[in-house]
Amino acid sequence: MNLNIRLEELSAEERAIHEYWMTEAIGEARKAEALGEVPIGAVVVHKDHIIGRGYNLRETTLDSTAHAEMVAIREASTALGSWRLLDCRLYVTLEPCPMCAGAMVQARVPLTVYGTPDPKAGCAGTLMNLLEETRFNHRTEVIQGVLQEECAELLTSFFRKLRQRPAKL
Ligand SMILES: [Zn+2]
Repeated sequence: MNLNIRLEELSAEERAIHEYWMTEAIGEARKAEALGEVPIGAVVVHKDHIIGRGYNLRETTLDSTAHAEMVAIREASTALGSWRLLDCRLYVTLEPCPMCAGAMVQARVPLTVYGTPDPKAGCAGTLMNLLEETRFNHRTEVIQGVLQEECAELLTSFFRKLRQRPAKL
């Protein structure tokens, strides 16, 4: 099921490029964290420019679709003036859920790069692989594990702090 390209399979130069853009996605995740949102961030890169940024805003907007990737995809489509995100790469700190993986297929995103796997909702190879499903009319290549430790640490420290917070009366 898992057809993902692993970080170890890339050249040092390719790895450095993906790490550079993933650092931008981590910056977006920190904005979510500052709002008390689960820290997940994403960027859409077109050629050598970021054309879409997003971070998880589910609690702030009371919108179950306000995931980092959805926000970034919407912004990128506006920037390109097209729902097709051709020649784009999407970087996200956490493996996409079924909704976001579906949106990436719909938007024809050619490549998705993610930081850390999501054992509870990951649909880019962990629970299923919607991005590389051959029965769909479009497939999105996947690279996993870019800055995995940093991406995972964002989430573990967030949930650690949440558990330590005194319970509300
Ligand atoms: Zn999602």
